[in-house]
Amino acid sequence: MPDIKDMNKFDAIIVGAGPAGTSCAHTVAKAGLKVALVDRGTFPGAKNVMGGVLYRHAVENAIPDFWKEAPLERHIIEQQYWLLSDDSNISIGHRSEKFAQEPYNRFTVLRAKFDSWFAGQADSAGAYIISKTVVDDVITENGRVVGIKTDRPDGNLYANVIVLCDGVNSLLAQKLGMRGEFDNRHLALAVKEIISMPREKIEDRFNLDGDEGATIDIYGEVAQGMEGTGFIYTNKDSLSVGIGVILADLVKTRVRPYDLLEQMKNHPVIKRMISGGEPREYMAHMIPEGGYKAMPKIYGDGVLVAGDAAMMVNGFHREGSNLAMTSGRLAGKTIIEATEKGDYSKNALSRYKDLLEDSFVLKDLKKYKNLPAHISNYSEFFSTYPEILNKAADEFLTIDGVSKKEKQRKIRKILTEKKSLWNIIKDTYKSWRAFG
Ligand SMILES: Cc1cc2nc3c(=O)[nH]c(=O)nc-3n(C[C@H](O)[C@H](O)[C@H](O)COP(=O)(O)OP(=O)(O)OC[C@H]3O[C@@H](n4cnc5c(N)ncnc54)[C@H](O)[C@@H]3O)c2cc1C
Repeated sequence: MPDIKDMNKFDAIIVGAGPAGTSCAHTVAKAGLKVALVDRGTFPGAKNVMGGVLYRHAVENAIPDFWKEAPLERHIIEQQYWLLSDDSNISIGHRSEKFAQEPYNRFTVLRAKFDSWFAGQADSAGAYIISKTVVDDVITENGRVVGIKTDRPDGNLYANVIVLCDGVNSLLAQKLGMRGEFDNRHLALAVKEIISMPREKIEDRFNLDGDEGATIDIYGEVAQGMEGTGFIYTNKDSLSVGIGVILADLVKTRVRPYDLLEQMKNHPVIKRMISGGEPREYMAHMIPEGGYKAMPKIYGDGVLVAGDAAMMVNGFHREGSNLAMTSGRLAGKTIIEATEKGDYSKNALSRYKDLLEDSFVLKDLKKYKNLPAHISNYSEFFSTYPEILNKAADEFLTIDGVSKKEKQRKIRKILTEKKSLWNIIKDTYKSWRAFG
């Protein structure tokens, strides 16, 4: 009689069917290996949350021309950045006709639809998709990871390599000692509402045609002095409106995330953008924002870690899904190479780190390695600077018979009454350095 272990044995088991896990499963299945993709959701993506902007390059590495069939909301042609005070706003933006043409540049998506479609692609490539299944623990033998324990009866599964793509709270990586305790300075809590709005209204309000889309990233007053940013993204017939704030700041201020979002929606500038919409769905999720210095171990004997579980988010550029998909794909490539050699040791799997080092994933995370700590020390970037810049702009643009020389003096006073010129220069220099 065959050993139950052999019957339930795969070349690879991937925990988590988000962008990282599905990308890994798709890569491994396409190479003809036996792979299982296990997720706790009723279907892949059922509870997954993102702003959410999806970047073309990461998806097309797996599925060329995906935009012709994937459930995408809009292709983004315009990106704006807003700096808010309590009653005014400085904005800069970029709009390009180039982004209105195929193959496009980036897209808005709703994760439940997109993740489910993406997992379908992995399924078509030959991966076994196992939904409604919680992975409770990993099984180790002689210090090597050999399988997973699930919440199903007789639910142990075995594989040569287990890939942890279980997202920001990767308890499995923690159980294996690959990451330490969670640090609330390295986590942002984001809350998001999907607001239904007729598509004609969205297109009029944001100056869009057909499936064109726009994004607005918002800094300043909305975060109430905490380290955080807000966003408004256009979907086909809804807006995604949300805000993410470092967890440690929420704990310190005791501000409730829901109130933060309500206050943001009532800001006079934002209220105009969402008026006439109907809240449809409310969701909350963590974002790992600790950067390169806070990354856990990403490989071990029989195990790899990818995506949010490995802290692979570039918060400054609002990129996460593309780092997740790329790391998942490279984890898959590592498994294919390891299978060819029949070696799943830590040493063989360290190839994953080399592949990541050669990709934008670790290059970008390393470049910004000092940014998370720098931003934590300069909360004024989220409060004082937006306020004084808006006041200075108000003064500059008010035509009131005051001479330009006097205006210049007033503006200098506004700029330096909360921060000396020397401190502004110092902050600018230190920030420039933190960008690597
Ligand atoms: C509000 C918000 C806005 C964001 N905006 C953007 C954006 O605009 N663009 C962008 O690129 N990124 C954005 N991100 C980040 C992006 O969502 C993540 O970086 C990305 O989803 C990470 O993918 P992942 O596959 O690693 O993890 P996830 O997408 O979190 O997937 C993890 C999967 O693991 C499953 N799972 C977890 N534990 C278990 C278990 N024990 N057993 C079985 N299954 C399990 C979950 O069900 C889930 O399907 C945003 C994040 C948030 C929260």
